Amino acid sequence: AKGDGRFTFRFYTRELTAAATDRLQMETALRKAIDNNELSLNYQPIVDPDSGQAQHIEALLRWHNPYLGQVPPDRFIPLAEATSLILPIGEWVLKKACQDMRQLIDEGHPLKRVSVNISSLQVQRCDLPVLVGRILRETGLSPEHLDLEITETVLMDEPDKVLESLNQLKALGVTLTVDDFGTGYSSLSYLKRFPIDTLKIDQSFVRDIPHDQDDEAIAKAIIAMARSLRLGIIAEGVETQQQRSFLMQEDCERAQGYFYSRPVPFTKLLEYLTDKQTV
Ligand code: C2E
Ligand code: CA
Ligand code: CA
Ligand code: CA
Repeated sequence: AKGDGRFTFRFYTRELTAAATDRLQMETALRKAIDNNELSLNYQPIVDPDSGQAQHIEALLRWHNPYLGQVPPDRFIPLAEATSLILPIGEWVLKKACQDMRQLIDEGHPLKRVSVNISSLQVQRCDLPVLVGRILRETGLSPEHLDLEITETVLMDEPDKVLESLNQLKALGVTLTVDDFGTGYSSLSYLKRFPIDTLKIDQSFVRDIPHDQDDEAIAKAIIAMARSLRLGIIAEGVETQQQRSFLMQEDCERAQGYFYSRPVPFTKLLEYLTDKQTV
């Protein structure tokens, strides 16, 4: 039995070492990703569920490394957050998204805004309002065309500091969306306290509609609450015609998901916008 234990222990450390090596390799590669032009943005339309017309777009980060291949955001974003690399990467994302949006507006596309995902570390760093202000000036994008998506968790740590930062962002003229709404274990009182414009219903509540009665009830309740609080509402992860019908029936103002479009590169987005919006 002793021998078994030792074997297990050695096996376990070897696994850990392999994981740590992978992580270190990925971290080293991620450090050079901006300079090596390995990052890009995909855009997913956020549409009016009735007409399918795109109203907003969400910028979603992609990383392609020659050795690691296409690395999914769910793998490299947590690493970027743990290593603070999310600060330069997040700045790159903001700038690129604002540049692309400026081009879309200049070309006459009737889009209201681009949503950019913001990590809690970027909010904690109190100069986010300064950074956003500078990027808006540099890219010439009007602030009303920029929306920042934050999660409920952001609102929970250091609420006073976060409140000040969000108020400054609002003062610039950008809008704020709570992403993954309903998953954050936080008290709803923050909706009163923080200057939030829009709630985005987490896709876990949309996925099993119409088969799961509880999810339907939760989605209905969130839509009704957003309406009475005069907040915008977006349902995310819409994949089927049945889900679309449900959202139309509930008068949900916006929807996002594979049913309408996957996240696509900028050139593909231009095609999508031209196909869907003209005539
Ligand atoms: P998120 O912000 O909740 O983004 C939505 C995710 O759902 C995206 O995954 C999108 O591709 C996916 N999605 C959209 N429609 C559907 C659908 O109909 N069905 C299903 N199953 N999935 C759908 P993605 O692009 O892999 O991004 C994953 C997460 O990575 C994002 O979740 C966000 O938390 C994070 N992320 C992505 N880009 C950025 C970024 O620029 N900065 C930061 N801080 N985080 C980012
Ligand atoms: Ca998001
Ligand atoms: Ca989300
Ligand atoms: Ca998410």
